[in-house]
Amino acid sequence: MGISARQKKLRKRKKRAKESGGGEEGGRWSLCSFCGELGDVESGFQAGGKPQYDSFLPRIASKLEVVRRLTRDSCREKILKQCPRCKPYFYYRTDYEYLAGGSEDEQFLTRLTGEEAEEYLAKGTG
Ligand SMILES: [Zn+2]
Repeated sequence: MGISARQKKLRKRKKRAKESGGGEEGGRWSLCSFCGELGDVESGFQAGGKPQYDSFLPRIASKLEVVRRLTRDSCREKILKQCPRCKPYFYYRTDYEYLAGGSEDEQFLTRLTGEEAEEYLAKGTG
């Protein structure tokens, strides 16, 4: 399959999304009982020793299926995840900052479009 065939397919999908007044970006998933509560971008942040400022990803984020680990670094994870119900992909990323006054942890979960997910899948582990 050449690139042009793929582009044609994507264009078709975009057009359909427009016609239905939403589509993939507009929130078919918002009806999903599993990932529907997740927005396009979710983040959590924990600063060591300052629990009053801590925030966390929605608990459902940890229940998404791991599709592929994109790095072997365990402190700064990059994982491609997927909703087991409605099948969109998510990009999960953690960051870790060691500080003398208490280390900081951050987590990000981003909802991917089909094209973005394909890119991550094509890249493989590295
Ligand atoms: Zn879902």
